[in-house]
Amino acid sequence: MRNTETTAKRLAILGSTGSIGTQALDVVRDQPGHFQVELLTAGSNADLLVQQAREFRPNAVVIADRARHAEVRDALFPLGVKVYAGLEAIEQAVCMEDIDLVLTAMVGYAGLRPTLAAIDAGKPIALANKETLVVAGELVTRRAREKGVNIYPVDSEHSAIFQCMAGEWDNPIEKITLTASGGPFRGWSRQQLSGVTRAQALKHPNWSMGAKITIDSASLMNKGLEAIEAKWLFGLKPEQVEIIVHAQSIIHSLVQFRDGSMKAQMGLPDMKLPILYALAFPHRLATDWPRFDFARYPSLTFEPPDLEAFPNLVLALEAMRRGGNAPCVLNAANEVAVEAFLQERIGFLEMSDLIADRLAKANFVPSPDLEALQATDSETRQAAHESLKSPAWRS
Ligand code: NAD
Ligand code: MG
Repeated sequence: MRNTETTAKRLAILGSTGSIGTQALDVVRDQPGHFQVELLTAGSNADLLVQQAREFRPNAVVIADRARHAEVRDALFPLGVKVYAGLEAIEQAVCMEDIDLVLTAMVGYAGLRPTLAAIDAGKPIALANKETLVVAGELVTRRAREKGVNIYPVDSEHSAIFQCMAGEWDNPIEKITLTASGGPFRGWSRQQLSGVTRAQALKHPNWSMGAKITIDSASLMNKGLEAIEAKWLFGLKPEQVEIIVHAQSIIHSLVQFRDGSMKAQMGLPDMKLPILYALAFPHRLATDWPRFDFARYPSLTFEPPDLEAFPNLVLALEAMRRGGNAPCVLNAANEVAVEAFLQERIGFLEMSDLIADRLAKANFVPSPDLEALQATDSETRQAAHESLKSPAWRS
C-alpha cells in the first residue's frame, strides 16, 4: 500500500468535465503534492477535456464521443498525452497500472461498466455515480468484496454516514437518516407542480450540479436513488433507511446506533468537502474553504417529505423494497423521463407517470446478473421511448 502522506495518490477521474469532475480538479489544484492526475475522461466536451489535460498533464485521456477524437488527439499530441475514444476505451483505461484511485463522476447507467472494470482491476473507487449502485448494487458490492476493493462514497449524504461510521464499524447500525434539501419546490402542491417549467426545475436552492441530478433533486427521485445507494453501501435493510427534509443542507445525514445514540456530520453545502474526504481517506487535509457560522444559521429545520406531491420518492422506495431488477427499471425509466422533461416533451409530474407505468409493466427478475441488467436497461429505455410517442401511460 502506498503511503498517502508522502506520495501523491494517482487518480483517474471519469467524467472530469462535469460538476463533480471539475470540483474534483479544484480539489487537486488546492492540494499540491497530494494528488496526481493519471487519467481524465469525458462524454463529449472536447474543449474542456483538452484544457484540463493541458493543466493537469495526465498520462491519458478518453473522449467517449468518437466524433471528437481527432480534435482532442491533435490538440494533445504535442504534450505526449495518450488519447483514446469510445466507452470501451474508458473500461480499458481505468485498469492502467499506475492508477491508485478511480473517481466515478460520470452520470447515469453509462458509469456501470467502467466501475466494474475498475473493481475487477483491483482499483479502489471514490463513487459519485450513484446510478451504478442503484442499478447493480448487489453485483458491484459483491465484486468489490471479492476483490478486496474499497468503495468510498462521494455523495454528500453517504460521505456523512461514512464519516459517522469512523471507529464504529463493529457497532451495528439501527437506522440511518438521509437528509434532503427538499429542492426548489419544497411545500408545493401537486397542482402547482404540474405547471413547473424546465428553467424552474434547474434552479436548485443549495447545490450547483449537473442537469440530470438537479432534476432528480427537484422531483425527490434523487433521495430515492440515494436510499438505494445507502442500502448497498452500508448493508442495510430498506426499513433501516429514513428520509427527512432539512432545507438548510447543513446536516448531511445521520446514523443511529442500537443504544439510541445518533451521530450526524455537518458542514456547509460544498461538494468539495466529500470529494476531498473520499480522495484523501483516511487523512483529512487542510483547506482554507469557508467555515460554518452558527450566527448565519440560527435554526435548522426538519420535516417529513411530502409523498403525495413527490411520487418519485415513493416509486424509488417501492423499487428498493422489491429488489431484483426493479431499481434498474426505475433508473432507466427515470433517465428517459428526465431527458424528455429537459427537452420539454413531458411535464414535471408526467415523469412519475412514465416511471410508474414502466415499473408496473416490466418483467420482474429476482436476482439479475449483468446480462439481465443490461437487458432490463435497454428494454425499459425502448419501452419508455415508445410510450412517449403515445399518451396512453398518462394518468
Ligand atoms: P454532469 O452532467 O455535470 O457530468 C457528467 C460527466 O460525465 C461529464 O464529464 C460528462 O462528459 C460525462 N458523461 C456523461 N455521459 C457520458 C457517457 N455516456 N459516457 C462517458 N462520459 C459521460 O454530472 P454531475 O452532476 O457531475 O454528476 C455526476 C454523478 O455524480 C451523477 O451520478 C450524480 O448523481 C452524482 N452526484 C453529483 C453531485 C453533484 O453535486 N453534482 C452530488 C452527488 C452525486
Ligand atoms: Mg446527495
